[in-house]
Amino acid sequence: MRIFVAGGAGYIGSCCTEYLLEHGHQVTVYDALLNGHRQAVDPRADFILGDLADLSSLEDAIKRSRPDGVIHFAAFIEVGESMLDPLKYFRNNVSNAINLCQAAVSAGVRKLVFSSTAAVYGMPKVIPITETAETVPINPYGEAKLMFEKVLGWQHQLSGLQYTALRYFNAAGASEKFGEDHHPETHLIPLVLQAAEGRRKKISIYGDDYDTPDGTCIRDYVHVLDLAQAHLLALESDFCGSLNLGSGTGYSVKQVIDTVRTVTGKDFPVETAPRRPGDPPRLIADASAARRILGWQPQYDDLSAIIASAWRWRQQHPQGYQD
Ligand code: UDP
Repeated sequence: MRIFVAGGAGYIGSCCTEYLLEHGHQVTVYDALLNGHRQAVDPRADFILGDLADLSSLEDAIKRSRPDGVIHFAAFIEVGESMLDPLKYFRNNVSNAINLCQAAVSAGVRKLVFSSTAAVYGMPKVIPITETAETVPINPYGEAKLMFEKVLGWQHQLSGLQYTALRYFNAAGASEKFGEDHHPETHLIPLVLQAAEGRRKKISIYGDDYDTPDGTCIRDYVHVLDLAQAHLLALESDFCGSLNLGSGTGYSVKQVIDTVRTVTGKDFPVETAPRRPGDPPRLIADASAARRILGWQPQYDDLSAIIASAWRWRQQHPQGYQD
């Protein structure tokens, strides 16, 4: 297949691009490099520097690359920022995503795969979470992702565009070549690894009085290459709709910290800090639909292996990407 990857210079987009290339597909990466890195674009992919806001450049790029499928990773990802600047999130994660959908439809693209998120569920009532759970986002980030899922649903009904929205739980880990390098970093695993490296003085646990066995929040960490596998399967499948992607196993913040200590052999100070507003105590996926419908077979079900891959990448790229 020829695949057009919007946001292929970001964390998940770069790993997915590498995976698609390894599996014999041709990839065009379209990225404005607002948060992505030029060095994270696999050299085997064609690269077009462009913004989703620029509809004519986008239409031109898609027409020229004549893709069989489009994958959309090019979104802003910070929940906290979305609470401070909601319009930034609705503009890019909804309006600009509509540009991508329009350009794909007018170029006759068959299938669009969209990076969605567990944040569409808000504070779920039942764990593990299935796709039929209520979607009540509690921040503009999750709301914008849900809005674009609905756009795709209507576009499918009315124009026949095929789509799969993949609702990621907590993406983590690295491939051989590409890893996570966000500025600022807000995610737990890279922050704890920075503490293990001595780049960060301490790690703060955002609340240890939740109703969980050790009092800290529980999340479902899924390896970025397992996410990549699901994207390729989704492109190949006729399934239209939304699917959860998670390992189905939950780990608490304290368990993540202990696992980083074991994997890296490093110790570092840890303090308890106030709860972070809007954190659900527990998010664990029921990803059986993705396994059944797509034939998804995640390879990394163990937190140590996920953290070990991220640690290896950080040791090989101590300064992250240099651009
Ligand atoms: N967390 C923490 N300290 C940090 C960063 C995150 O205790 O420095 C917690 C956070 O409150 C949440 C979990 O780690 O319960 C995962 O947070 P992350 O931001 O990585 O992902 P999220 O689940 O919010 O998408």
